[in-house]
Amino acid sequence: MAKQDIRALSREELREWFTEHGHPAFRANQVYDWLWNKSHIKFDEMSNLSKDLREELDQHFAINHIEVDQMQRSTDGTIKNAVRLHDGKIVESVLIPTEKRITACVSSQVGCSLDCDFCATASLKRMRNLNPDEIYDQVVAIKQEAEKYFDRPLTNIVMMGMGEPLLNYKNVIEALDKVTSPEGLGMAARRITLSTVGIPKLIKKLADDGVRFNLAVSLHSAIQSTRERIMPLASKNHLDELLESLQYWYKHTGRKVTFEFVVWRGVNDTPEEIQALVCFVKKVPSKVNIIQYNPIENGDYTQASQEKVDAYIQALDEVGVIAKVRQSRGQDIDAACGQLANKTELEAE
Ligand code: SAH
Repeated sequence: MAKQDIRALSREELREWFTEHGHPAFRANQVYDWLWNKSHIKFDEMSNLSKDLREELDQHFAINHIEVDQMQRSTDGTIKNAVRLHDGKIVESVLIPTEKRITACVSSQVGCSLDCDFCATASLKRMRNLNPDEIYDQVVAIKQEAEKYFDRPLTNIVMMGMGEPLLNYKNVIEALDKVTSPEGLGMAARRITLSTVGIPKLIKKLADDGVRFNLAVSLHSAIQSTRERIMPLASKNHLDELLESLQYWYKHTGRKVTFEFVVWRGVNDTPEEIQALVCFVKKVPSKVNIIQYNPIENGDYTQASQEKVDAYIQALDEVGVIAKVRQSRGQDIDAACGQLANKTELEAE
């Protein structure tokens, strides 16, 4: 019989297991601490437990954990991890160092189901959702790399890797709860940003659930027909509803929304597109991150000219909306936004 994954149990469930098996419940707390706060992956290393108990745990439970299968470093310092999950599947996560921050970009699913035309992850079918511990472990791996290679702490987390985090809602929330809880990594929620393609009913649910992290929405166009063309899921999630859900988010959380926006030549670099964006962002407290396009293999898209990007920034500036251009990082190792596609793995096959 396959052993049960011990980290699938909540603290309470673990306490129950201990009592049912004739051990004091506080032992469960000790194990929980080893598993999460200390990120240990062997029962044998849990030095405050008796040898018998360690063996008993080992017979009943597995500690599923990730392995950094391959680490690549960009000339700009960015690190990309190809992470092997317990069932052999691979996802990628990225460490992005800047002067002030070290950010972990973390995946939420194996592959992705969104099929956005401009994103390399779309070439991978969505195979499964990541478990909370698999999301948490990616953060731990990057935190350790930040300390080892930069001698600095991990400061920020973005749920912007492979997959759509809101389509793995429960596990993502559980993982981020652990990341922010003192029994996990104790990181501040305001240093975490979840990026979504924009699913109105789940954005409202985030607000209702009282999450304390930041929200980013991949907008890329404020014209419904354009958005549907480049992001198929937009046809089921209309811009009107998206806007309404973001107003709801702001009303309940008091936190501004960040819009992610790539400007492509011939797609959304027209005055109508700029006007539509200005109109849209004025309706909800927000800021805009203009992301540089990172070319992908077999892609039909090209980054618009600097002039067009400037036109966007100026138009937004005129209505008092902050817009910043985000330089791309880690392009040489396919670690930049939209480039995560398990390429090294595919080449190896
Ligand atoms: N599914 C989520 C998480 C992915 S985040 C979402 O849609 O938000 C990755 C960000 O990079 C998104 O804003 C996405 O639209 C953007 N992106 C995708 N492909 C890109 C590319 N080739 N160049 C630049 N940005 C890209």
